Parts: sequence; C-alpha cells; structure tokens
Amino acid sequence: MDNFIFQNPVKLIMGKGMIERLSKEIPHESRILITFGGGSVKRNGVYTQVKNALKDYKCVEFWGIEPNPKVETLREAVKLGKENDVNFVLAVGGGSVIDGSKLISAALLTDTDPWNLVLAGKRVRETVPLGTVLTLPATGSEMNNGAVISSKVTEEKFGFYSNFPKFSILDPEVTFTLPTYQVACGLSDTFVHVMEQYLTTTRQSRIMDRWAEGILQTLIEIAPQIKANQKDYNLMADFMLSATMALNGFISMGVSQDWATHMIGHEITALTGLTHGHTLAIILPATLRVLKDQKADKLVQYGERVWGIKKGSIDERIEQAIVNTEEFFRSLGLTTRLSEEKISEDVIEEVKKRFDARHVAYGENENVTGEIAFNILKTAFK
Ligand code: NAP
Ligand code: FE
Repeated sequence: MDNFIFQNPVKLIMGKGMIERLSKEIPHESRILITFGGGSVKRNGVYTQVKNALKDYKCVEFWGIEPNPKVETLREAVKLGKENDVNFVLAVGGGSVIDGSKLISAALLTDTDPWNLVLAGKRVRETVPLGTVLTLPATGSEMNNGAVISSKVTEEKFGFYSNFPKFSILDPEVTFTLPTYQVACGLSDTFVHVMEQYLTTTRQSRIMDRWAEGILQTLIEIAPQIKANQKDYNLMADFMLSATMALNGFISMGVSQDWATHMIGHEITALTGLTHGHTLAIILPATLRVLKDQKADKLVQYGERVWGIKKGSIDERIEQAIVNTEEFFRSLGLTTRLSEEKISEDVIEEVKKRFDARHVAYGENENVTGEIAFNILKTAFK
C-alpha cells in the first residue's frame, strides 16, 4: 500500500424529508446563489422543498446549467452572483449542476475568467462555501472536490479541482422521477468509477479491493431490481450511497488508479455530446480488452470475486469477465459500441490528435498515449 493522506470533510445528510434541514446547515446571514439545471426540480417538487426550507433567506436563483456544464453558461451565473454579492452557493441538481457550481464558487472570488481557472490545472482553494442537494446518483461530485467543465466554443472538456462541499443532502425519493436513460448512465458511471480505482494491479490492499468489489456487487444486484421498480426507497438509497461511496476517496486509499476510460470518454462527450455514463459503457470493455495483459491478474480476481467465474483457462476467464462487464452495460439498456451510436471514425482520429498534441499518458502505468487510446477506440468501434 502506498502512503496517503485522507480527509473528506463533507457532511452527508441522507434520507426522506432531509431537504428541510437546509436552514440548519446554511448560516442565517447568508446571501445564497441557488443553482439549477433545466427544470426537472420544478416538476418533481424538489424546488418547492428547497424554497420552503429557505424562506427566511436572501436568495437569488440561477437556472439553466446544462448537462456537461458549459463555461459559457457558468460565466453568467458568476456575473449574477457578483451583482448580488452572494456568500453561499447551493447547487440543486445532478453532477452537472454541482460541478458547474464548484467552478462558480471559485470564480466568484476572483477576476480571472472561469475557463482560465480550468486551463490552469491548479486546485483552487479560495472559494465561496458550497452546499448541495443531489438529485441524480452518478458522479460522486456531492462528496468530492472535483468537477468536469466543458467549453461550447472549443468543444473541450477538462477536470477542475477546488474545495469539497460543506454538506450534501441525499434524499432517495428525489430520484424516483429520473428518466430510465439517466438511471442507466448513473449506474454505468458509478460502476466505472469503481473500476478506475480497482481494476489496476493486484495485491496493493485487501481492504480497498473488498470495498470496491462490494460496491460492484451491489450495483449488479440492484440494477435489474431498479429497472423493475424505480420507486423502491431502499433500492434507490443503496444506489445513491453506492454512487457517493464510489468517488469520495474511500476506495482509493493507498492504491494506484487508472482513469484512462474517463479521459477518453470525456473526449467523446466533448466531440459528440453523448452522455457521460454512456461513453464509459462503450469505452471500458475496450480498455479492458486492449490492456488485458497488463491487467490480467486483477481481471482474474475481478471475474472470480465479482462474477463468480472459477472455471477455464486464464485467457477464458479474462474474456468471460470482460464479456460479463459488457453484458451488464447492455442489460442497463445502453449500447456498447461506437458504431451503434453512429460515431464516425473521424472522432477517433481527433481524439488521438488531441492526446498526441497534449503529450498525455493515462492509466496506472501511464502508458495510455494517443496511440493506445486510438487502439481502444478502434476496439470500441465494432
Ligand atoms: P446531469 O448532467 O447532472 O443530469 C442529466 C439530466 O438528468 C438532466 O437533464 C437533468 O435535468 C436530469 N435530472 C437530474 N435529476 C433528475 C431527477 N431527480 N428527476 C428527473 N430528471 C433529473 O447528470 P450527471 O450524470 O449527474 O452529471 C454528469 C456530469 O458530471 C458530466 O459532465 C460528467 O462528466 C460529470 N462527472 C463529474 C464527476 C465528478 O467527480 N465531479 C465524476 C463523473 C462525472 P435538469 O437539468 O432539468 O435538472
Ligand atoms: Fe464519471
């Protein structure tokens, strides 16, 4: 196990009716910028719950943070927040609203353009305090300090790091209204977050392995049940907590991490608009196929412990583990090949060009260069 320092300061507030606790968590003198997406919260009653909880506060609302939050939109939110001299940001929505709000809360305290904050690639520690009401289990953004921000103009999508939210409220009931496709993409994103921190090398940490395998097994168990009844409170509570636990640092202590699938997936979203979790369902099986020699030992462990694969040669067991992974994504209703989404081979060329120009090399062995990403995308194509 590698050395590490772990600290996650987010206060997690989970359960039915917990949105009314907002007034206990936000200091009373606050001037709040409340950020929203496109309006799902108006249709499912979350907006009314938030407004009731904050009726004694001075609030200004910013609407319209889109999926894969665009810096062009976030600039408008920063302008509104500065005009109203806000000193608290409350994000109400999915990962996109929360991610966008992390950049907003950093940009409120500086004159630097938000896109330059992203491009600088440095963690921003001076931020307006942020709280969140999560409406979509997927990203883990509610309990980490990362964000992913896009630019409409340049068709780029990059990571951004700042502070953790002060608190996050997770009421499983708010997920009852999620479209089936968003549930599928949320399950896929959660699954791949775990895989990025688990499917690397063996014998680094028994406890991290078991924790990761526990989340994967939970997802495999609940996915078909959620399909049958998305309004089952306990099922959705387990889904929500799985997503949060998958990317709040708890499963990555002292172990190596991959993230190549995410980096390639971000380019696919930036260039085609395909939803984040869906890009991962297409890329992960291909990443595992291309890197199967490097990841062989862990693939065997994953196959045995997560999928119960105990028979056959090493090669057969590895192949079965990858097939099961791809079948899991398909069982969610997602396609798993680029050609099924009519994504052209030009996109593959463009991703290679971008990785080459940036001289990047991702993955636990830092060997996923433009060339390897190209092979992964070719494998994901057919
Ligand atoms: P999202 O983009 O926040 O939301 C997707 C859609 O779901 C929106 O149209 C939204 O509608 C709708 N929605 C949300 N909650 C709903 C509800 N309860 N009922 C009905 N509809 C609802 O999805 P996401 O998967 O959470 O976030 C994706 C973004 O997060 C991507 O940009 C991805 O790259 C990023 N990400 C971040 C991290 C991280 O660590 N920070 C990790 C992985 C991915 P409205 O807009 O109308 O509300
Ligand atoms: Fe993700």
